Amino acid sequence: CGIVGVLSKTNSVPVLIDGLKKLEYRGYDSAGLAIQSDLDHSIHRARSVGRVVELDSSTKTLSARMGIAHTRWATHGVPSERNAHPHISEGRGVSVSVVHNGIIENHEEIRKALTAEGYVFQSDTDTEVIAHLTHKHLVQGLELMAAVQATVKKLEGAFAIAVICNTAPLTLLASKKGAPLLVGHGEGEYFLASDASALVAYTKQITYLEENDVVQLHTTGVSFFDGAGLQVERPIIESQLSA
Ligand code: GLU
Repeated sequence: CGIVGVLSKTNSVPVLIDGLKKLEYRGYDSAGLAIQSDLDHSIHRARSVGRVVELDSSTKTLSARMGIAHTRWATHGVPSERNAHPHISEGRGVSVSVVHNGIIENHEEIRKALTAEGYVFQSDTDTEVIAHLTHKHLVQGLELMAAVQATVKKLEGAFAIAVICNTAPLTLLASKKGAPLLVGHGEGEYFLASDASALVAYTKQITYLEENDVVQLHTTGVSFFDGAGLQVERPIIESQLSA
């Protein structure tokens, strides 16, 4: 189980795949990625059960500056393509994609409420509620940052998440509670990962998210917000890992 996110100057896909390969040691049963089209910002997804090399060969022709990727260790829902991350919620012109490590303890309650509101679930995971909740908040008119802040407030359990959507070009959001997540600072490009081993080939300048932080990666820079929604500074440290 691992997360990688990339906001690149060129093509994020090889970096996403390479990052997933570096996180393979953590164990997983399936893998997937979602990218935001450089042309129209639409979201495209590829998933596969089994090794990251399978995902690698099925995504060779893809290219986009921004993407999120995941290796899954199933806790809710069998290992299968439909349960593999990223999960997507779309409709009313909004498409949001989410990867998640951890467990959402109150997913059943949220799922019931969202189903009553008309959301149709495509998987058996606890994770999918995060995609639909964020979609709901975006459709209500919130910006992606406010939408993700509203979503994580409703989640109980442990999580590290990364979120992209079609209405926020080159903007990658992430948050964590009880699971590790860090940001890598490159030269005009930014990275996200569960641990530094996925990133040291690209940058050694990293920032660990603190509990309940929500971070925004954008071409203009990285902004951290704490659990109370206040913008905060988080220190950049130099990773001692070698590439
Ligand atoms: N609970 C989620 C699932 O079963 C995430 C598992 C993970 O951390 O990979 O899909």
